[in-house]
Amino acid sequence: MSPPTEAYPTVTSPLAIVGGGVMGALSALTAAQLGLKALWFGPAEADRTDGSDARNYALSPATVGLLKRLGVWPALEANSCAVTRMEVFSGASRVDLTASDSGAEFLSTMVTHRNLLDALEQALKFCAPVTRVPLRPTGLEIFPDHVRLSVEGKTFDAQLVIGADGARSWVRGQAGILWGQRDYNQQAIVAAFHTEFPHGGVAAQWFDRGDILALLPLADPQQVSMVWSSSRPDPLTPDLNVTIADQITDRTAMRFGRLRLEGGLTAAPLRMLLTDELTATRIALLGDAAHTVHPLAGYGLNLGIQDLLCLEALWKEHRSDPGSGAALNLYRRKRQRHIKTVQWSLDFLQRWVVQSHPTLQRFSQVGMRFVANTGLLRQLLIRQAMGPY
Ligand SMILES: Cc1cc2nc3c(=O)[nH]c(=O)nc-3n(C[C@H](O)[C@H](O)[C@H](O)COP(=O)(O)OP(=O)(O)OC[C@H]3O[C@@H](n4cnc5c(N)ncnc54)[C@H](O)[C@@H]3O)c2cc1C
Repeated sequence: MSPPTEAYPTVTSPLAIVGGGVMGALSALTAAQLGLKALWFGPAEADRTDGSDARNYALSPATVGLLKRLGVWPALEANSCAVTRMEVFSGASRVDLTASDSGAEFLSTMVTHRNLLDALEQALKFCAPVTRVPLRPTGLEIFPDHVRLSVEGKTFDAQLVIGADGARSWVRGQAGILWGQRDYNQQAIVAAFHTEFPHGGVAAQWFDRGDILALLPLADPQQVSMVWSSSRPDPLTPDLNVTIADQITDRTAMRFGRLRLEGGLTAAPLRMLLTDELTATRIALLGDAAHTVHPLAGYGLNLGIQDLLCLEALWKEHRSDPGSGAALNLYRRKRQRHIKTVQWSLDFLQRWVVQSHPTLQRFSQVGMRFVANTGLLRQLLIRQAMGPY
C-alpha cells in the first residue's frame, strides 16, 4: 500500500515535463539552459517495444542548431551523417536535390534514435536545475495557478506541465484534450542495410506503386537506414526477412549495389494524429503528443522541435509564470495553424504519391519532370527537403 500523500512534502517547480523520450529530454535541457527548474518524468526507454530504437532521424539544420546551442552536438557529430544530395525516383523520372543548389552545406543530418537520446540523457545527468523522476505519474489535478502531479504517494506542483509523452499521451487524456487520427493503412518497415558501394551522403527515395521507399545514409559510409512505407498487409512475415535484401536491391535498381540486411526489421502503423487544442489550463502538448505526420519527409521530430523553439522564446518572456494564460495563448496562436498546415500538406503529398490510377500516375511522372526542369519549384523542394526552420 502506498504511504499517505501528506507523509511527503510537495515538490514545487516552474515546469514539469512528462515523457522520457527525445522531446521530453530536449525540453528539460532547454529549460535548464534558461535557468528554469524542471521535473522530468518518465522511465528510461530500455524496455520500449514500439521499434523506436531502430529509427534514425533526418535532422533539419534548425534542429542541429538547437543541439549545438544545448552543447550536445559534439557527442553526436562523429556518429552523424550529413545528407548532401537527395535523389527522388518515380517510374522513369528522377529529380536530384542538392544542398549546394541553395547555398547550404547539407540538406539534413542523420542520427540514430539511440545516439540522440543517450547524448541528451548524458547532458542531463550534470544539469542541476533538472530533477529526473524515472516514473510515470499516476495522478494529475489542475488548479488555476498550478498543476499537481502525483506518483507513489508523492506530489509535485508545477506552474506548467509539458505533455511530451508521445502519440498515446497520458497528459492529453488527463487534460481532456480531444484528438482524432487518419489511418494511412500503411506500415513503416524500418531496417538497416550494408551497401555494396559507399552511399556518399546521398539519400534516395522511390515513389513506387503506392509505396514510398527511402534509403538514408548513416555514419558508416556503407550503411543505410530503410524506411519503407508499405501497404503490404503482412509486413513482417518470415519470408520477407529472408528475401528483403534482394527485394530492396531490385526495387532500388542497385542504386547502392547489393544490399545485406543488418539486424532485424520493425514495423509501425502510420497515422496522422490531430488534436483539437495544443493547450489546456496550465498544460501544453508538444511533439507526438500534439501531432504525428507521415514519415515521407522526415518531419515528425523536427516539427516537435519547432514547438519547443516556440516555447523557449515564451519561457524567456514569461519567466515568472511560464504556465500563465497569456503564455499558453501565445503558444497556441503561434503553433496551431502552422502545425495543421504541415500536417495537411504532407497528407496531400502522401495521397498524391499513393494514388494508383494509371492516368494519375502518368500525371505524377510528368509533374516530376516539370519539377526537375523548373528552377523555382526545385528551390521549393530543396527547402522542403531541408525541413522546417
Ligand atoms: C518510421 C519513422 C521514421 C521517422 N523518421 C523521422 C525523421 O527522419 N525525422 C524526423 O524528424 N522525424 C521522424 N519520425 C518521427 C519521430 O519518430 C517522432 O516525431 C518522434 O520520435 C517523437 O518524439 P516524442 O518524444 O514526441 O515521442 P515519443 O518518441 O513517442 O516519446 C514519448 C516518450 O514518453 C514516454 N511516455 C509515454 N507515456 C508516459 C507517461 N505517462 N509518463 C512518462 N513518460 C511517458 C515513452 O516511453 C517515450 O519515452 C519518424 C517516425 C517514424 C514512425
